[in-house]
Amino acid sequence: MKIDIVWFKKDFRLEDHAPINAVAKSNNDFLGVFVIEPSRLNEEDVDPIHIDWEIKCAAELQSRIRKIGGEMLILHDELINAFEKLKAKYEISNVYSHEEIGTEWSYQRDIEFGKWCKTNNLNWKEFPTNAVVRRLNNRDNWYKLRTERLSQEIIPAPIKLKFDNELKMDSISSISEIGLIPRELRDEYKPGEFEAKNNLDTFLNQRGMNYRYEMSSPITGENSCSRLSHYISAGCITIKQITKIANKRVAYLKTLEKTDSRKKWIASINSFKSRLAWHCHFIQKLELQPTLGSKAMNRLLDKKLNRELDSERFDRWSKGNTGWPFFDACMRQLTATGWINFRMRAMLMSVASYTLWLPWKETGNYLARQFIDYEPGIHWSQVSMQSGTTGINTVRAYSILKQSTDHDTDGKYIRTWVPELSMVPTHYIHEPWKMSKTMQKQINCIIGKNYPRPIVDEKEARLEGVKNSYKARGSPEVRKISQEVNKKHGSRKKPNKLKKRTKGRQTKLT
Ligand SMILES: Cc1cc2nc3c(=O)[nH]c(=O)nc-3n(C[C@H](O)[C@H](O)[C@H](O)COP(=O)(O)OP(=O)(O)OC[C@H]3O[C@@H](n4cnc5c(N)ncnc54)[C@H](O)[C@@H]3O)c2cc1C
Repeated sequence: MKIDIVWFKKDFRLEDHAPINAVAKSNNDFLGVFVIEPSRLNEEDVDPIHIDWEIKCAAELQSRIRKIGGEMLILHDELINAFEKLKAKYEISNVYSHEEIGTEWSYQRDIEFGKWCKTNNLNWKEFPTNAVVRRLNNRDNWYKLRTERLSQEIIPAPIKLKFDNELKMDSISSISEIGLIPRELRDEYKPGEFEAKNNLDTFLNQRGMNYRYEMSSPITGENSCSRLSHYISAGCITIKQITKIANKRVAYLKTLEKTDSRKKWIASINSFKSRLAWHCHFIQKLELQPTLGSKAMNRLLDKKLNRELDSERFDRWSKGNTGWPFFDACMRQLTATGWINFRMRAMLMSVASYTLWLPWKETGNYLARQFIDYEPGIHWSQVSMQSGTTGINTVRAYSILKQSTDHDTDGKYIRTWVPELSMVPTHYIHEPWKMSKTMQKQINCIIGKNYPRPIVDEKEARLEGVKNSYKARGSPEVRKISQEVNKKHGSRKKPNKLKKRTKGRQTKLT
């Protein structure tokens, strides 16, 4: 009996799934396959928390596929080995998958798999992922193509699949079976597409009213942001599904009487929709340039910046032991939960790059391993921007003190994540090294002993970093490459009035 294989690659859902739909329409047996490849585990951006999350989502999908008559395997093997074994046991007609927009490792793996399929006379058909468009040379037409893609109908989930073959291979069901131990996270991330939709529902109907105003704070952002990123990156829900549901909610809100809360809801959902648009906008950059995780967009600029891996600085940055309370609280929250909001991710990267002058590849890989929602296309595009290695984006050097006083005025957040500082009076909580020796003794928090002194003078180091960045950006050879980067990756959206007015002002000391 012939089988069609759906090769799952971070697209763990039944609804809006073109590869599943292709098999459901045929008369062939349905076999889903998710392969955890040992060579991927050696990549510097991969962490056991990613694998654990993927296995949980795959296992949830597996049980739903089995309920409707299909079959699915979770395998631990190199991809081609796994397919050799499948081919030896089954008569495979087609392999269907989504296009994966990953780093060089998955790009090369897909090339090898394509060759293997050709040699073995196997039809492998790939379907687009979200609104990322394959084989474009630049961004000229992308926005139009993206809009067309998102306006297509949602593909319904299949009601019935079939698998009349015998199951001849064993499936794994948990990460411990492959000898990995993920770090324990404070929050429980519930897998699957129902949970993804449930999350979206609570966001659009209960949690999200103040999203627009509360998303930038790590305190309010935890609840007011959609918290969909881990579902989106595991493909439990698509950007098209989310956009359509959000549009429906806005249309409904517009039928209601004009109130303050209606105004806030509409503003927040529109703001959320523009973030959703960024999702594919950034991933398209990796599609155009799969080397973003290893080579800077503007390589000459990166070379001129000449950042060095100072091991003490890297260690203190990564462990949240810099001596800057708000920064350390953010890094510790991220390590403990696997998530932090956008503004703080940008600050973590900007401090590494401008203030501590650390190289982006190492700090970018470290952050990738902390994020439960790691999405290479967004991540490496953001790392390039926040480290100032594109040559086309505004220099954004975050002042920790400003973020700290803006978002954690009374220091409650700092005291939660940096318990060494729990007794520090509010007046000193953002800069505890300014406490007198007597006060430090009184509250049993000696700076340099119970909590570190700041690793460097923050303001001085940041301004020095900004100055050096401008110097490197200013050279004519670098500028020439920046123009090429802009041609390839730059947004084609016309600048709005505000942007026009501030044109030429290239620094943002946020
Ligand atoms: C250095 C750095 C690294 C990042 N790495 C990742 C990553 O690996 N994975 C990831 O999903 N996001 C990443 N982001 C973007 C952003 O921080 C997260 O998408 C967001 O914090 C996730 O929380 P949320 O789902 O509650 O977001 P919401 O604010 O509710 O946004 C909804 C969705 O819109 C998309 N989105 C939001 N902000 C952005 C953005 N700036 N760029 C592109 N898409 C966006 C995401 O898919 C997100 O889930 C990174 C940002 C920075 C500065």
